[in-house]
Amino acid sequence: MDLSRFPRRRYTAGATPLEPMPRFSQALGGPEIWIKRDDLLGLAPGGNKTRKLEFLVADALAQGADTLVTCGAPQSNHCRITLSAAVKEGLKCRFVIEERIPGSYDDEASGNHFLYRLLGVEALTVVPAGTDMAAAMQQVANELEAAGRKAYVIPGGGSNALGGLGYVVCAQELQQQFYEQGVRFDHVVVGSGSSGTHGGLLAGFLGNRIDIPITGIGVSRDPADQDPLVHREAQAVADLLGLSMTVARESVVSVGGYWQPKYSLPNARMVEAVQMLARTEAILLDPVYTGKVMAGLIGLVRQGHFKAGQRVLFLHTGGASALHACEPTLLGRVAVPD
Ligand SMILES: *Cc1c(COP(=O)(O)O)cnc(C)c1O
Repeated sequence: MDLSRFPRRRYTAGATPLEPMPRFSQALGGPEIWIKRDDLLGLAPGGNKTRKLEFLVADALAQGADTLVTCGAPQSNHCRITLSAAVKEGLKCRFVIEERIPGSYDDEASGNHFLYRLLGVEALTVVPAGTDMAAAMQQVANELEAAGRKAYVIPGGGSNALGGLGYVVCAQELQQQFYEQGVRFDHVVVGSGSSGTHGGLLAGFLGNRIDIPITGIGVSRDPADQDPLVHREAQAVADLLGLSMTVARESVVSVGGYWQPKYSLPNARMVEAVQMLARTEAILLDPVYTGKVMAGLIGLVRQGHFKAGQRVLFLHTGGASALHACEPTLLGRVAVPD
């Protein structure tokens, strides 16, 4: 598919690596597990939001914006990467932070919160759980407008049709790597949150006729709530591309049960997954997303869903900056639920 008609900024030089993980695969027993290193995307440090922002920021610049406004949780990777993009482009950046766990916002926190300050966020507003985030961001945009400035509002996770194009690019990049590296996959496993990654990748696979099933691992919702979101995102991306394609509801598959007790709160399977990847491949996952997603992949292998003789691709979406906000837990020094 020709994506050149969509304005795009470039924040990563070339393709992210597609690599086997022999020691991890051996430790797990069963299928051969590979990894797509989207944790190595650009923007201090990058992750899946980098791909979405290439299109979103290009749109902001085309509209003459001087400030990016976005939202997230207190340790949001999306906020950090949006701020990094703003810094690179000479724009200002403001956040609305949703305190999803009451009392969790700490202005002295490390991890991503420290990076917000180091990278120079212009302002951040903290609002309680359940706040209408779109309205809260619009209010910030209105205040900037009243001061003679121009805001560009980016939805949570950068997940709209335009942001989802970033994962159509990833699908095309993968297709090329499968061919060049001469490797075939039986399955792809990806985190499923605000849905731009899962939905965009699915639209890209369908549009490019890449016939490999994608399993999303929910990081904040079980399938009954997550799948409709992903389906809507995949269809919106397909429509923006002009594909005249109806995304089949059955092509959206996610797995729940790995994100509990709550979005962003640790569990024992996440800690096991983060330690296992660190100690077999020296690859850093994160406590909020990829640790739980990898716990899901490990669970699916142990249940016999992915088997010996198959090849499974794990899409690493980044997030390691948040490790530092939860060090004792990740070293097993704090009791966490299963
Ligand atoms: C945001 C994020 C996700 C989830 O991606 P969505 O596109 O929001 O579904 C996964 N992993 C990391 C590290 C993230 O920051």
